[in-house]
Amino acid sequence: MMVPVRCFTCGNVVGEYWEEFKARAETHDGDEDPADVLDDLGVDRHCCRRMMVSHQDLVDVVSPYQ
Ligand SMILES: [Zn+2]
Repeated sequence: MMVPVRCFTCGNVVGEYWEEFKARAETHDGDEDPADVLDDLGVDRHCCRRMMVSHQDLVDVVSPYQ
């Protein structure tokens, strides 16, 4: 599925940060810590940070069945 646009807990918009977060934190090159990326993006609440670190992009897996 796609990343939720808003944080489930506080309603802050977090969807706009997903693409950059994914590009910088999930490359597994060891160049940037996901925590540092979230700090840099200004996502400082724990409830919003968990939206990003716990998300798994399944849109390409599920889309053939819709
Ligand atoms: Zn939040």
